[in-house]
Amino acid sequence: MKTIYFDNNATTSIAPEVLQEMMPYLKEMYGNPSSTHTFGGQLRKSIEEARARVAKLLNAEPEEIIFTSCGTESNNTAIMSAVESLPRKKHIITSAVEHPAVVNFCKYLERKGYRTIFIPVDKKGRFRLDEFSKAVDGDTALVSLMYANNETGVVFPLTEIGEMLKDRGVLFHTDAVQAVGKIPIDLKKLPVDMLSLSGHKLHAPKGIGALYVRKGTGFSPYMIGGHQEQGRRAGTENVASIAGLGKACELAGENLYGEMSYLKGLRDKLETALLKLCPDGRINGDIENRLPNTTNISFKYIDGEAILLKLNEFGVCASSGSACTSGSLTPSHVLKAMDVPAEAIHGSVRFSLSRYNTEAEVEKVIEIMPGIIKELRKLSPYGKER
Ligand code: PLP
Repeated sequence: MKTIYFDNNATTSIAPEVLQEMMPYLKEMYGNPSSTHTFGGQLRKSIEEARARVAKLLNAEPEEIIFTSCGTESNNTAIMSAVESLPRKKHIITSAVEHPAVVNFCKYLERKGYRTIFIPVDKKGRFRLDEFSKAVDGDTALVSLMYANNETGVVFPLTEIGEMLKDRGVLFHTDAVQAVGKIPIDLKKLPVDMLSLSGHKLHAPKGIGALYVRKGTGFSPYMIGGHQEQGRRAGTENVASIAGLGKACELAGENLYGEMSYLKGLRDKLETALLKLCPDGRINGDIENRLPNTTNISFKYIDGEAILLKLNEFGVCASSGSACTSGSLTPSHVLKAMDVPAEAIHGSVRFSLSRYNTEAEVEKVIEIMPGIIKELRKLSPYGKER
């Protein structure tokens, strides 16, 4: 049975071009970039080439890019660096729908005496600017907000938020792990000081990420040891994955608009058909302002996990809530924050597409879903009569 992989917000496949770019570093070019001999030292050039490619996708300067091990490390580093750069301030603002890599780090800092405010979202998952404007004060060190939500794809108005923070002496970080490579990002215009990204969300391997730190922003390293990354992130560089991330960013930039429109076309076809063919469905999130590859649909009166198991029997991979938190039956904190009604919150399924998905795959899912929903509704104590 052929796998239909519609779970690209959880992770993506490595692009063939990326794998090809990485292979020499996994085989013959195994030296240590810090070595003085040519065999190792030549890898420094490869790292700098990759840095320039990552910077180009974001319209940043290469020296503003620090390679890390993942999105989580980038987020932790950004938050820690901000509070260490502004030691007298004890206040962090984030949102109610962030990834655990931000939420749990803020909670950790709360145990160390910091105060965190989690700004709510509305029913469509939109950031509550009114609540935000009341929350910023002279004690605020950092505002850390995601660019796009991993579960719903909803995009936050970072430009507007950044304008509100102008001249307030507050650092502004964005977790752009789900946005990079999916929508255009121009760091010459976007008013953020730091931005996190992760390789495995854009067809590079797992275990590689990057943190953008705007020139002039105070920075304090999180990983302490050797002098790598100009003393900003210690640890012998993961050269193969760094090269892979560089190539993945180049590929993403080459056809960003074409891919956005391709994915939006597939996503909209899937979404429209499922809402038409499966009764009692609803889209979670702001349909006007979402990543083009993501749809989060609730099928009322049934359990999303049960839908996933049925889809799995057909070789279809999707997700209910975030992949990082599934396995537990507590409803997604994102959908809870959006006040999704009780009969819909457990029945949510996220389909997230990539450039490697096809129209035929979308048609296959459209063909099988109505049967799955009908069967599960018959078993549901609330859905029997429907
Ligand atoms: N932030 C967001 C929005 C994510 O979706 C994820 C992964 O799912 C992360 C951070 C963590 O990234 P990584 O898996 O590279 O640590």
